Amino acid sequence: MNDRPVYVTRPYLPPLEELLPHLREIWEGRVLTNGGPFHQRLEQALAEYLNVKYISLFNNATIALLTSLQAMRVTGDVITTPYSFVATAHSLLWNNLNPVFVDIDRETLNIDPSRIDKAVTKETSAILPVHCYGNPCDVVRIQEIADFYNLRVIYDAAHAFGVAGPGGSILQYGDLSVLSFHATKVFNTFEGGAIVSQSEKMKKHIDHLRNFGFVDEVTVVAAGINGKMSEFNAALGCVQIRHIDAAIRRRRDIEERYRTELRAVKGIRLLNPSDNYSGNHSYFPILINDDYQISRDALYERLRSNGIMARRYFFPLISNIPMYRGFPSADIANLPVANEISARVICLPIYPDLQSADQGRIIRIVAGD
Ligand SMILES: *Cc1c(COP(=O)(O)O)cnc(C)c1O
Repeated sequence: MNDRPVYVTRPYLPPLEELLPHLREIWEGRVLTNGGPFHQRLEQALAEYLNVKYISLFNNATIALLTSLQAMRVTGDVITTPYSFVATAHSLLWNNLNPVFVDIDRETLNIDPSRIDKAVTKETSAILPVHCYGNPCDVVRIQEIADFYNLRVIYDAAHAFGVAGPGGSILQYGDLSVLSFHATKVFNTFEGGAIVSQSEKMKKHIDHLRNFGFVDEVTVVAAGINGKMSEFNAALGCVQIRHIDAAIRRRRDIEERYRTELRAVKGIRLLNPSDNYSGNHSYFPILINDDYQISRDALYERLRSNGIMARRYFFPLISNIPMYRGFPSADIANLPVANEISARVICLPIYPDLQSADQGRIIRIVAGD
């Protein structure tokens, strides 16, 4: 085997020449961070691109999640999904909040709204759902439940960059939505993230929390954090955004080919994308059923031994990781669907410059030819 390894994702980068003039501007202006000109330009460009009113850039999505929970003054129990990246639940532990895991829906792999009611306690103050793989949660139903019990809703929208339906951006739902611009995500600034909020007052509050709680030179209103995005990352974002539509189109074509060529493979289930929303094609999960020729882990090993570094996102389930196992809601009997999906899933490589021959190789291995 002398093919080079193919990873589950390969960060998208713009032509370096497009970044250089921006870097020169930074070098000459000597404004490196603290809401400089590129920070302002990127906030505005993203607000326009994403079609949202209020967005606050962050140095990464994890700090943005921590800040969101502080901004909404979330306390006690928080209802969330076990089927996500660990940062979702970690943001709760870092705020001394108790995660309450609710099982996922078998079709969308997002939190199952019909199970949220039963998980609400006197201590519940918020719901932290995830738009898993960029597939929208049932935002309308979740808001109804939140309104009934007077709960805040903070979406971990790390996968949901650019996802929009007839009513507009998915990011307009809930109180806040958190985006990630990590290298592995659809839109990247190397490291980065953002919070989308729904009022100018809340955006201001978030901006203060992001900068240690400073309102002006001498006034500190909260025990804030350092969540600022540097000018370097913001300048990169200003260039990346010129290419994002083309990058998403490439992803869409790759997904299309996977769907066409894997549709008929016995024992594999593909997720059905939402009819109402245009996705961002950020992940391509396949579910390995019992009637597939080998086990999920055997396929995973077979891919790896052929240089295809597919990933079992999300395995292990957050609720099965040691620091979460002790929470009552982490019981496997409470989360049958999430446990099953986590044992069946493999995410196949999908990224704008995935080579056609490499994708062909992946398809042949999965199809068992
Ligand atoms: C990537 C990711 C995060 C963390 O984002 P960072 O920008 O790396 O901090 C949080 N939640 C989910 C669902 C993610 O996929």
